[in-house]
Order: sequence, then structure tokens, then C-alpha cells
Amino acid sequence: MEATACDVLVIGSGAAGLTTAITAHHFGADVLVVEKAPAFGGTTARSGGWLWVPGNSLATRAGVHDPIDNARTYIQHAAGNHFDEARVNAFLDNAGAMVDFLDAHSEVKFNFGQNYPDYHPDHPGGAEQGRSIHPQPFDGRQLGKHLAALAQQMPESTFMGMGLNSGPDLKHFLNATKSLKSALFVAWRILAHGRDVMVHGRGVRLVNGNALAARLLKTVLDRGISLWASAPAVELLNENGRITGAIVEKDGRTIRVDARHGVVLAAGGFPHDAERTRRQFRHLHAGTAHATLTPEGNTGDALRMAEGVNATIDDSFSNAAAWVPVSLIARKDGSTGRFFHLIDRAKPGVIAVTREGRRFTNESENYHDFVCAMIEACAGQNDVSAFMICDHRTIRRYGLGAVRPSPLPLFPHLRSGYLKSGRSIRELAVSAGIDPEHLERTVEEVNRDAATGRDSTFNRGATSYQRLLGDESFLPNPCIGEISVAPFYAVKIIPGDIATYHGLVTDAQTRVLDVGRKPIPGLFAVGNDAASIFGGSYPGAGATLGPAMTFGYICGRNLAEGRGAARAAE
Ligand SMILES: Cc1cc2nc3c(=O)[nH]c(=O)nc-3n(C[C@H](O)[C@H](O)[C@H](O)COP(=O)(O)OP(=O)(O)OC[C@H]3O[C@@H](n4cnc5c(N)ncnc54)[C@H](O)[C@@H]3O)c2cc1C
Repeated sequence: MEATACDVLVIGSGAAGLTTAITAHHFGADVLVVEKAPAFGGTTARSGGWLWVPGNSLATRAGVHDPIDNARTYIQHAAGNHFDEARVNAFLDNAGAMVDFLDAHSEVKFNFGQNYPDYHPDHPGGAEQGRSIHPQPFDGRQLGKHLAALAQQMPESTFMGMGLNSGPDLKHFLNATKSLKSALFVAWRILAHGRDVMVHGRGVRLVNGNALAARLLKTVLDRGISLWASAPAVELLNENGRITGAIVEKDGRTIRVDARHGVVLAAGGFPHDAERTRRQFRHLHAGTAHATLTPEGNTGDALRMAEGVNATIDDSFSNAAAWVPVSLIARKDGSTGRFFHLIDRAKPGVIAVTREGRRFTNESENYHDFVCAMIEACAGQNDVSAFMICDHRTIRRYGLGAVRPSPLPLFPHLRSGYLKSGRSIRELAVSAGIDPEHLERTVEEVNRDAATGRDSTFNRGATSYQRLLGDESFLPNPCIGEISVAPFYAVKIIPGDIATYHGLVTDAQTRVLDVGRKPIPGLFAVGNDAASIFGGSYPGAGATLGPAMTFGYICGRNLAEGRGAARAAE
């Protein structure tokens, strides 16, 4: 068999894997990254790119006072019985250092999330801003010929293939019909994008997670770190209980990779492992629809390989994954697209109801909690789903799901059946398959509340987070509006996920632990291959990428300094 050797073998090229690789390389290790997919970046490249990193220096520079103990209290409250003090301390001690390290030694640069609150700023230790940061946009042309090797965003997260930054871009696109400045901005973005597609075959103004992955990839390439695409790791090399490398397939060849300091599992969890998700996604037991937004290669390979060498998996959280509401949309090529309902739920005049026509939660809460409530509301039913409802004025103002606001037409979505409509609430209910009487009653209640700006059932708009995703210009409550202008519309949503939370049990140094809770020498796990530190909750924007990159940084340092090997020998 062909063979090669390195100090550190990283399996997976998402944010966790590439941060580990960059750090280990910086501190002197010879690193090889192997990636199963033909392109680099994994889920990270299609993500929003937010990082939840308490204690980061961008916040400090912006004058935010946020003692780190407050973040500890907040995590403890969120994680409950799953609070792992040692790992949480490692995260909090290193999150800020990771951001500074990348800023100084890589192409990875961030912007401060001005006024971006935690998802529960009202919980103990919650913050009004400071903990969430966002990657700076990146000019993809800097990757040169390697631009083609960067994984792309999902088409449904883009506008005509163009990534939209969640800050200024989105504001201008929503205001394009009301402000000349926004209209000019949008026209310029569309023209520039068209030119880029003609010249480079894709957009080059990269934003969000695509910019993050591109910045990490650029750094890896600049540093000359070895990087193999279409190269899945298929087996760990186990010498008397010590992991010494892995078997990797590449170009039809089987290659033995010896890793002197250690092997790092960074293969992005198990969202596409049909067997494990069936066992661990509790709502799937009834055979319900579920749509993961992660790439197809994340089939839980690392978890299976690690189990084969006696590793333990924590599958005890209340939620096995970070849930998001998703609608399914037919693409032109016949495949099915998946739309992430991130901000439309929070807009005034949009509500969510079950098939029974009843609201079931505060629509302005974060996506994870929203889906938890949806699953609970459908308990005992085969069909776990709900409907987003709004009127004509609202859909033209904000859009709904994949339906874009005015001036883009509604009819393609009505024709495909993605969007249901009715001239009255009753007619809409019948067309969408919702209980008409209850829906009429629900809408009457919503309209009564809209007059006072107070949601008498779920208190929408109670926190700064909820109001942020609403419409600040909408008074008295940015999250509550009437549903009164015919025709009326509905889009069906089902549960989906953006990341798995269950994963390998690791310690504060990212070492994978065996069933007796002892480190397996030479084996490390970061990102979604490691169990989440939040115990199945979602504390704020960036709750998977923040820990993924922080533990990648910790792991890379330890391994470069030979600590993986030294400990392995203990
Ligand atoms: C639409 C969307 C928006 C999101 N927004 C955010 C956000 O703003 N903030 C946030 O914190 N999280 C967000 N997430 C979640 C976040 O993207 C993921 O949790 C994160 O990217 C996981 O990083 P990772 O490095 O662990 O895995 P990934 O980025 O998925 O990388 C894992 C890589 O490993 C590869 N791999 C798998 N098996 C093998 C194998 N056998 N051998 C070699 N390689 C292998 C995969 O092909 C993949 O490229 C979002 C996700 C989605 C889908």
C-alpha cells in the first residue's frame, strides 16, 4: 500500500478542521488535511458564518463591557445538567485568543456584530451585544484557480446566485423599492455579480460562511499546508490502543497516512447518517419529513471510525441537533431545494400555525427554539409540520420563505404549489389543508393584538433579539402586524437541521475519550464531531462555529507542541 507521513492528520476541511490545521502549522507542525468532498469548506462554506465568542477583542474595542463570568453563567443556564465546566472554561479562556490569533496570523478577519444580542438576552448572564462576530466579505479572486475548489452556498440562501451579507446587503435589498440609495446599491450588486459570473463562472464577492471558508482556505494555501480533495478517510490506524494515522482513499488509490502527533476528526458530525439520525432525532420516529441543510458528505464517518476504536458518543441531549424550520422548493433542474426560514418568521404580520390552525409559539424566537416548539405541538402525529401565514401587503413588503418581496413576481411560486393562497382566510385554510374555523379565530386574535402592539398569547417582541429580526420601523411592536389585506398566503414548513449536537465525548484539550472516560492516545475531535458544549440548546448567533474554531485552535496548539504525542505515551 502507498504510504505517507505527517505530524498532524486533519480529517475534514470545515471551519474546525482548517482552524486546527492553520494553528498546528503556525506552531511548527507538518499538517495534512484530507477532505471527502471535491470542494473544501463543508457546512461552513454554506453557513451564515457567525461565531459566538464571548470575550473577543472586537467587542472590547467597541466598548462593550461583558465580564467572562456572565457568559459562563449564561452557558450554565443553557446547558443545564450537561454543563461541562472544564470544556466550557477551555472555550471561554481561548475564544478571544483564537480570534486574535487568526486576525494576526491568517486571512481570517471579522466584523463586530453591532447590537447583535444573544438569543436569550433576558436569561441569566445574557448579553445585549458583544459575543457574536461575523467574517468580513472576501474577494474570491484572491483564491485564483483555487476558487473552483471552494464549496458553494446553497442556491436558496442566495439571490440569483449572489450571496447577501446579513447586514447592509439585506437591508438594501429589502428597501430597494423604497429608497433610491438602496435601489442603486441593488442595481450595482446585480450588475457586478453578472459580470463576475461571466468572467469567473461564479460570484466572487463572497460573504457570510462562504467568506469564512474562503479566508481559511486562502490561509491554508498560502502556508503551503497539504490539502487533498476527494480523499475520504476510511479507517483509523490503531497500534495497541494508540491512533497512529488513517487509511485514506484518493484517486482510486488506498493510502496509509501516518500521523506522528495525532489524528483530528473534523468531519462535521452525522446529519446525513440515516441510521443514527433515525435513532437520535426523536421526531423522526414517526416517519416524519426532515430536511438537513448540511452537505451530503457529512455521513458520520468520523463517529463510526472512532466507535471502532472504543470512543464514546454523548447522545443524551434533549436535542440531538440544532434545528431550523425549512420549506421545500422545486428547483428548475428537478431537484428539491431547502429554504431556511431565518428571518421571515419574525416580521410583523407573519404568524406560524399548526394544521389545526393554532399558533404554537413565539414566532420571533430563534429557529432552534421555534422548531422545538413545533415538534412539541405535533407530538404523537406522523406529520411534524406547520404553516407560515401572512397577507398580501406583508408578502410584498418582506417576502415569505423563498418568495421574494416586490417587485419579484409571486406567480412562479403559486404555480409550483410552494405558495398557497386564498381570497379569504377560510379559502386559504382549505387550499393549504388547515382547519378553517381555528385559523379564522387565530387571525382575529392576531389582528386584535396588532391594534395594541401586545401579543397576548406569546409576548412577541419582548426581547431585543426578537425585535432585531422584526422591522424596527414598524410601531408600536416591530414583531406584530395585522393579517387583513387579501389575498392571504401560506408556506408549509418542516423541521430541519444545520448541525448535529450529539458527538464524541472529548476533554478540554479536545482528546477523544473512551468508554472508561480515558483519552484515546493520538485521537482528537473538533467541530460537530465533538459533542456540543451547550447540551442541546442554541445560546446565540455562532453557537456551533464559535466552539468549532476555538477548540480547533486549542487542538492545533496542543498537537504542534507535541502534546498529543507526549500524552499518548503517558
Ligand atoms: C445554512 C446554514 C447556516 C448556518 N449558519 C451558522 C452560523 O451563522 N453560525 C454557526 O455557528 N453555525 C452555523 N451553521 C452551522 C455550521 O455551519 C456548522 O455547525 C459548522 O460549519 C460545522 O463545522 P465543522 O468544521 O464541524 O464541519 P463542516 O464544515 O461540515 O466540515 C466537515 C467536512 O468534513 C468532510 N468529511 C466528512 N467525512 C469525511 C471523511 N470520511 N474524510 C474526509 N473528510 C470528511 C465533509 O465533506 C466536510 O467538508 C449553519 C449551517 C447552515 C447549513
